[in-house]
Amino acid sequence: TPPQDATEIHELDEDTVARIAAGEVVERPASAVKELVENSLDADASSVDVTVEEGGTELIRVADDGHGMTEAALRTAVREHTTSKIDGLEDLESGVATLGFRGEALHTIGSVSRMTVRSRPRGGDGAGTELVYEGGDVTSVEPTGCPAGTTVEIEDLFYNTPARRKFLKTTATEFAHVNRVVTRYALANPDVAVTLTHDGREVFSTTGQGDLQAAVLAVYGREVASSMIPVDADGDDLPPGPLESVSGLVSHPETNRSSRDYLATYVNGRAVTADAVREGIMGAYGTQLGGDRYPFVTLFLAVPGDAVDVNVHPRKREVRFDDDDAVRRQVDAAVESALLEHGLLRSRAPRG
Ligand code: ADP
Ligand code: MG
Repeated sequence: TPPQDATEIHELDEDTVARIAAGEVVERPASAVKELVENSLDADASSVDVTVEEGGTELIRVADDGHGMTEAALRTAVREHTTSKIDGLEDLESGVATLGFRGEALHTIGSVSRMTVRSRPRGGDGAGTELVYEGGDVTSVEPTGCPAGTTVEIEDLFYNTPARRKFLKTTATEFAHVNRVVTRYALANPDVAVTLTHDGREVFSTTGQGDLQAAVLAVYGREVASSMIPVDADGDDLPPGPLESVSGLVSHPETNRSSRDYLATYVNGRAVTADAVREGIMGAYGTQLGGDRYPFVTLFLAVPGDAVDVNVHPRKREVRFDDDDAVRRQVDAAVESALLEHGLLRSRAPRG
């Protein structure tokens, strides 16, 4: 190719820019579900109903009873880079308590779908507002009767980005991703009633009144729930390292699957994956698990706020610690002592 003349360099139109950016935030239906569920939890919802059709490619509906939005707030919320959650960089430095803070989810999801948002502020009087957003433009805003809270409906995801749509997998695969995302949040928030429905069938429903054990029962069923044992290590229970505590539930070694999907791990309440954490878990089980088998794990790790960076890419759920080796040892020790306490490990050679 010949060298570029400056006159050939031109600015992309807004629509193109928006769709390219959207592709980085919304990779597939599950990524939209994640953003919407996080918004509901950030809105202090006590119930979150997720309904999807055809793996989320035809319809995603997330309905919550959170604090809701006024018409003005709703109009602002769908604009680019608008958030009520942080004011500036100082807030990022001091640590963000909400799950979202970038202010781009509603705008970007709406730019690659047909999105309808209905919302009514909690405790406010008067009607709610219905806003329709198609391919990045607000096409109607009208008063509507609706319960307090917010319902976001996404239809025809990627209808205007055919290349992206083409790369979606089968309905079963896309739904498996959605299921994993919703499960992660349901397990981390047993005080929120989370329901997941796919193609008219209820997949699971938590009561919102229970503890982690109750959420595990609702999501994974009785057989798995009855094989779970508690992990609860902090302070002197743990070898030195960045983790202040490791707690949650892990399954009996015989209750295992050939997929990593059931390893639900959290750092300071955020669902994340980390090699060091997975290796610590697997190390604790040792040879009790056959090759390529994984236990059911719901494990919460606490680290001091300034030891993790939450300002990661929206899609990346991977974290790295300063000292991966120490984290691996800490997780291994916490899980191992729980398994040992329940007589679930054959004795193994001490490690040096
Ligand atoms: P972010 O979550 O990063 O702030 P979003 O684009 O996801 O950005 O949402 C923009 C704003 O819209 C949020 O900051 C919040 O004020 C409002 N919002 C979005 N979803 C909800 C919801 N379910 N309930 C109440 N407010 C919401
Ligand atoms: Mg958000």
